[in-house]
Amino acid sequence: MDNRTEQLAGGVWRVEVGYQVNAYVLANDGHGDREGLTVVDSGWRWSGPRLVRSVRMLGLDPTAIGDVLLTHCHADHAGSAARFATSSARSRVWVGAADLATIRGESLQPTAATRLAARLGGGLAPVAGARPLVGGDERDAGGVHVIATPGHTPGHCAFLIKPCGVLLAGDAVAHLLTLAKPPRGLNADSTAVRGSIAILAGLDFDTLAIGHGPPVTTRARERLASLAG
Ligand SMILES: [Zn+2]
Repeated sequence: MDNRTEQLAGGVWRVEVGYQVNAYVLANDGHGDREGLTVVDSGWRWSGPRLVRSVRMLGLDPTAIGDVLLTHCHADHAGSAARFATSSARSRVWVGAADLATIRGESLQPTAATRLAARLGGGLAPVAGARPLVGGDERDAGGVHVIATPGHTPGHCAFLIKPCGVLLAGDAVAHLLTLAKPPRGLNADSTAVRGSIAILAGLDFDTLAIGHGPPVTTRARERLASLAG
């Protein structure tokens, strides 16, 4: 395993698909790819081949990727989702309902985040057939529970993988130098960001995995609670 991949728990891997940009790969059966793979966030527009290579290096089959769940519509998380939307008949892309129009390319109001993303990563390739996620959804594949965490974007979602105690928090928080709220200028609604962090602090998990930076494995819930306070 090279330094771009890391196993977080049985059937859950972090893959660095750009500098400080994470994607996650989930085995739907909890250990192998017999029942297919789910990807959570797929990085920049140019990250797709790197993600596919990493999946192969993990000993998994990239053609087994079915659902691609997006935490939100920013181009460093959703930039290459279009590639996976067309890679097999089974592939489907999902994003929080309030971010759906952006992913589909129907609403392209420029924000600070989208302008920065276009400069850094080539922007977003629209996915016309993307489908909506709703907070409270339980997904059959991978044992994933969807948690609505608006604020960074209106449709931001986090994903709790209950069987192995991993929370995939996307950009609800950032963990670069330290665990912190995402940079204020990149958030749609800073008050909602704080409320969403409080929701995450109340969940039951051991490992907090984030869109940017390494996972937090010690006192993650307490650290989230103090960020929200
Ligand atoms: Zn973001």
